Amino acid sequence: MTPASIPQAATRFDVLRLPLIGRLLRWRWGRLAVQIPMFALAALLVYDGFTGSPLASQNLATVAPWVHYRGLIIIALFFVGNLFCMACPFTLPRTLGKRLSLSKRRFPRVLRSKAVAIASLFALFFAYEWLDLWASPALTAWVIVGYFVASFAFEAFFGESAFCKYVCPLGSFNFVYSTVSPLQISVRDASVCQTCVGKECVNGSYSPQPVVLIDSIGVNGAPDITHTHTPQGIPGCGTLLFAPQMQSNLDCTLCLDCARACPHGNVGLFGRGIGAELSRPKAWPARYDVAFLVIALAFMGLVNAFGMVPPVYDLMQRISDTLGLRALGLTDMGIETIALGLIFVVGGLIAPIGLSLAAAGAARALTRTTKRDNLRVALTTFAPAFVPIGLGFWAAHYGFHFLIGLFSIVPVTQGFLLDHGITLFGQPNWALGGITDLTVIGAFQAIVVIAGYGASLWTAQKIALRAYKRQGFTGLLPWALLFTLMLLAGLWLFSQPMEMRGTVLFD
Ligand code: SF4
Ligand code: SF4
Repeated sequence: MTPASIPQAATRFDVLRLPLIGRLLRWRWGRLAVQIPMFALAALLVYDGFTGSPLASQNLATVAPWVHYRGLIIIALFFVGNLFCMACPFTLPRTLGKRLSLSKRRFPRVLRSKAVAIASLFALFFAYEWLDLWASPALTAWVIVGYFVASFAFEAFFGESAFCKYVCPLGSFNFVYSTVSPLQISVRDASVCQTCVGKECVNGSYSPQPVVLIDSIGVNGAPDITHTHTPQGIPGCGTLLFAPQMQSNLDCTLCLDCARACPHGNVGLFGRGIGAELSRPKAWPARYDVAFLVIALAFMGLVNAFGMVPPVYDLMQRISDTLGLRALGLTDMGIETIALGLIFVVGGLIAPIGLSLAAAGAARALTRTTKRDNLRVALTTFAPAFVPIGLGFWAAHYGFHFLIGLFSIVPVTQGFLLDHGITLFGQPNWALGGITDLTVIGAFQAIVVIAGYGASLWTAQKIALRAYKRQGFTGLLPWALLFTLMLLAGLWLFSQPMEMRGTVLFD
């Protein structure tokens, strides 16, 4: 979409124009105001993780992130947008790094892709299952500490938000699924951007010495708009997005620095249809790394849930027997590492890459477009269609823990306060949980998985009609088959009793 084709602001709902909330969000310290409570919460989790109850169900460090954060994040992404990245406490050092002028270098070119994000997501999901992070307050606290150290190190050494854009697994998850969100950054008047000198939305408005910029010359030869840059300026977009050209929420942390930095007040947070960008032509880059991030994340949704149902024990035992791991003298932990690692590598990396390449190849062959489209184009065109089905799997998985432990945060907080001498909120009722009727939760899981599948099929057929015209139905077939296989796997998986895996003993 060129700037000239962006619909003008008057026709669009703009959150930043709302009376109170818009002002708060545009406020210079608006992001900091939500980051500080999140920072305090993160510090509290670390503290309780290291010093509180070793029981996961009675410690804030395990209950808040693994039960509540993950459920709330799905709700926020679907109904609002990337609220976690907006309030992310891990990025607090960014502004400090910029002010200290520590961050000058660009992230190494070879790493400027989503390959690192795929690896970090894989590592987090695997570590979660392998180390039973959900069961260990101390390990979870170490993960949070690791996040702070890593994000500060990246922000201090590199001149862009390299941690957010290329590394952070939480951010990568949010980037992918915020593409369904009903809000997106865009500009109010594209013509203003055409005469804008400083492009502060992306460049920021810092200057060691005051600089006066003149943005346009009026009819009488005098400047129409001037503004001054000073050391008190606002950082530009950390992930290097350019507001007038944005068509997607990919890589947008919703920090709103662009809106604060734009001297013309030209950036808005506009309403749009849920998932609208998924079938919009050219909204996404035709890159393998972006496509495999989205596709692998959908498969990881299945693999991560598979790690929590009983059949995973049988499969790990079978892998151990087939490879003769016990005969090699490995411990149970060693065998679990190899068996679970193989399940994750095959299910979370090899299967999504192999199956999506096969579907793209089949679609090219069936529609006789092998000369027109290379494999990359055929695959990346359909990658956005994996967002809804992936979101459905994650909603089913995280929704299970969220619903079952909905109110567990109450006694855990009471217990924490009691341990620190605060009796105001009474004795904890440890029996307080959430929805206990597994039929209700099962119905919820089936509904979100099927809805995700339906939305993926709908998106894919729109893409297919656009890409293959009259051959659209034929071109859709391989993708529809792949989505259907994923649906069946998801329905089978979520019909299994889900449990937190404990120590595995191998024969
Ligand atoms: S700073 Fe504002 S006016 Fe200038 S290009 Fe960015 S959004 Fe447009
Ligand atoms: S476009 Fe960039 S600066 Fe604007 S909200 Fe998104 S990440 Fe922040």
